[in-house]
Amino acid sequence: MVTRCPECGGGETRDAWDGVVDGRLTWTVTGRCPDCPGSVWEACGWDDTPPEIRDELLERRGVYRLAVAPRPGWSRMGLLRALRREGATVGEIQALADRVLAGEATGTEGEMQRLAHRIRTAGLDGTTERVR
Ligand SMILES: [Zn+2]
Repeated sequence: MVTRCPECGGGETRDAWDGVVDGRLTWTVTGRCPDCPGSVWEACGWDDTPPEIRDELLERRGVYRLAVAPRPGWSRMGLLRALRREGATVGEIQALADRVLAGEATGTEGEMQRLAHRIRTAGLDGTTERVR
């Protein structure tokens, strides 16, 4: 993954953002190097954001929260099903569901958009709002 100058390994990040495309999380980082004229780069990826890029996103774009509005007919079972994913234990999914319902789920803007996308199938509307 190229998040540093391909010439010298230095440089700096200029911008970073994430979002949701077709229900999948995608992120992009762009940078330039002050020491190598003309050295600019762009890195991007899907789904799980590497920790250092996630930190960059939180730093540059802020921390977002998911505000949840259940529609009539929503169910906790449906929510648990919507949140289920590979590698997560039942306990982790229960805990995430509790945070979502309490409006306490936070993360990057893209992560919250992805969460909103997932819970929609369970009858819950979610809107992202910046908290920090
Ligand atoms: Zn360089």
